[in-house]
Amino acid sequence: ISLFLLGCNTSEDKKNNSTTETVFDAKVDSLMSLMTLQEKVGQMVMYSGSGAITGPTVNTNFRTYIKEANVGAMLNVYSAKATRDLQKLAVENTRLGIPLLFGYDVIHGFKTIFPINLGLAASWDLEDIEKGSRIAAEEASAVGIHWTFAPMVDIARDPRWGRISEGMGEDVYLASKITRAYVRGFQGDDLSKTNTILACAKHFVGYGAAQAGRDYHTVNMGEEELRNVYLPPFKAAVDEGVETFMTAFNEINGVPATANKFIFNDILRDEWGFNGFVVTDYTAINELVPHGFAKDEKHATKLAIEAGIDQDMMSSANRLYLEELVNEGEVDVALVNEACRRILLAKFKLGLFDDPYKYCDEQREKETIYKPEFLEAARHSAAISSVLLKNDEKALPLTSEKTIALIGPLAKDKENILGNWGAAGDRRGKAISVHQGIQEYVADAKINYAKGCEIEGDDESGFNEAVNVARQSDIVVMVMGEDYDMSGEAASRTNIKLPGSQTKLIKRIREAVPNKKIVLVLMNGRPLDLSEEDTLADAILETWFPGTMGGNGVADVLFGTYNPSGKLTVTFPRNVGQVPIYYNMKNTGRPIPANNPKEDYKSNYLDVPNTPLYPFGHGLSYTTFEYSNFKMSTETIGFSDTLKASATITNTGDYDGHEVVQLYVHDKVGSITRPVKELKGFEKIFLKKGESKTVSFDVTAEDLKFFNHEKFTVEPGEFEIAIKGSSDFDFEHTFTLE
Ligand code: BGC
Repeated sequence: ISLFLLGCNTSEDKKNNSTTETVFDAKVDSLMSLMTLQEKVGQMVMYSGSGAITGPTVNTNFRTYIKEANVGAMLNVYSAKATRDLQKLAVENTRLGIPLLFGYDVIHGFKTIFPINLGLAASWDLEDIEKGSRIAAEEASAVGIHWTFAPMVDIARDPRWGRISEGMGEDVYLASKITRAYVRGFQGDDLSKTNTILACAKHFVGYGAAQAGRDYHTVNMGEEELRNVYLPPFKAAVDEGVETFMTAFNEINGVPATANKFIFNDILRDEWGFNGFVVTDYTAINELVPHGFAKDEKHATKLAIEAGIDQDMMSSANRLYLEELVNEGEVDVALVNEACRRILLAKFKLGLFDDPYKYCDEQREKETIYKPEFLEAARHSAAISSVLLKNDEKALPLTSEKTIALIGPLAKDKENILGNWGAAGDRRGKAISVHQGIQEYVADAKINYAKGCEIEGDDESGFNEAVNVARQSDIVVMVMGEDYDMSGEAASRTNIKLPGSQTKLIKRIREAVPNKKIVLVLMNGRPLDLSEEDTLADAILETWFPGTMGGNGVADVLFGTYNPSGKLTVTFPRNVGQVPIYYNMKNTGRPIPANNPKEDYKSNYLDVPNTPLYPFGHGLSYTTFEYSNFKMSTETIGFSDTLKASATITNTGDYDGHEVVQLYVHDKVGSITRPVKELKGFEKIFLKKGESKTVSFDVTAEDLKFFNHEKFTVEPGEFEIAIKGSSDFDFEHTFTLE
């Protein structure tokens, strides 16, 4: 009881934010002065409440460990009743009654599922992403969750890697902005409020660079690439005040991330001044043994804490070995004190010592989950995340007068549509299918449905029925893609085409109704090789996995209630052999032949052009936007000046619409070579038909900074610059920094 008085956040504490941390420090000090070594180590341990979760060391004895003060946090406990029950176990059965922290993978929504993160990124809408994560925090916190293992801020440039679906794409600048939006959304402005949760930047670091796109695979990269590409989104998370970090499973340059002193102690803590806590990924301490970095789990425990890792998710390593290691003089007790302190500090910030039950509230749970305004927001996010890849002869939007052949294994789907992390538990079946979404726009009599085929497998028995409905209708809409679990963790593919017999079915229909428009609506968790589909379909709408309200959001786009505005944040290759392919690559010393892939001794493939099928930044609208009148305030800037670059964008088509205006630069010569293009700014604008707007960007020396083996530097010289609607263009303007 006295402990909670000591822990209470008094009104005095709240008055002055700048002293809050100091006040909490004092509280942590007095609490820690009462704690035994074993109790401190207990804070550094996390278990899963879901025995069904697979993993090398699933441990269902967590209730016993909680009562013994050997657990500081739980994951995978996700109802108010369950979190309250376990919290009670900790608070009422242990000597000091320190509350547990409940973490969960709230990745793209908690119950109300938003589009997968790669889809959300394609909206380029930071406000919407922040709002979506605010909603996710509202829902999750109502069941007693204090902490999300999100955002995943790993840059990914390899569509074979299944977790590309959970990230923000290939670009450093955009990912850094999006990272900050997620962190703001989850953590809000005051962590002690019951509707805010801790965010977690993961997976530190390099997880997205796994060799050959195989999950958990080796990562080798120089410090130049690490600091210019993979670290910046994590730095952005720190700058936004993210409270926690998660380690990556992979090794990086021979040292597994979970034992990597350079990235945790040197960069994260010393250089960036991060003072939140670091959790391992699931069983990552155990994995140091098969990695070949630790001789046994005890050794692994020592290596992890010495690298600056605070909490052990599911390895049982800290629980089994840490106290012993300290007693043997193998691990400095100061490291345990620091780790325990960081974890307790987070618990104080959340206000758990005020009232350990304040988050687990069954009444709030009932009132919060699937609130109508949350569903409305998810519908909007689904619409703005969709990317119109192709739209020949205005195949889209659909009109309600026409009879639609609705074909494909995902047309009536209510499970895969939720995407990875979403398609689980009681969320299944809550989703609106594309079929239902279309029904809101056209009478049932005008929809001729046939499944046609499954997502996977080579069964063609449904083809004839599909061909028949195509023949009976005015236009064909095919909803196809991947299963939700063909992307996500441990779901890498070497073949990135549409699975099963889906492409074959499109071909069959194309042959049967050569003069009818075919609209392909895609749901998938990675850039696919769509080179065949691109020749078969008149229109292609990429909807990723659009979430609970996906069917409505997608129908809003199909019928033009929402004019599509999404733009790719990852390159879609022509085939898997081009991978990795991304817009901000570097030049070689050899020229690239224009449209002549067979020219000798050039840096090209013999069989396909170097260019992708759909580039980064690409995304069509039902209207057209014209870019004109590019201007710079000056052609020469000094190191402390600002260059203003502007362009006029005009809506020259027949619909009102949003456009994502993108600023690119190219540093022509550097002390290390620089990418051919780099995104340095963007703005999403709305233009009524016929309307024009001038969009202007500031460019300063800071924007031109990069790491050159030794240090961050800005170098004088010539830069190219452009304001465009996609990354597919040639520069025409330059400025000089001197
Ligand atoms: C994933 C993490 C996730 C954790 C907990 C791991 O397998 O890599 O991203 O947060 O499991 O579910």
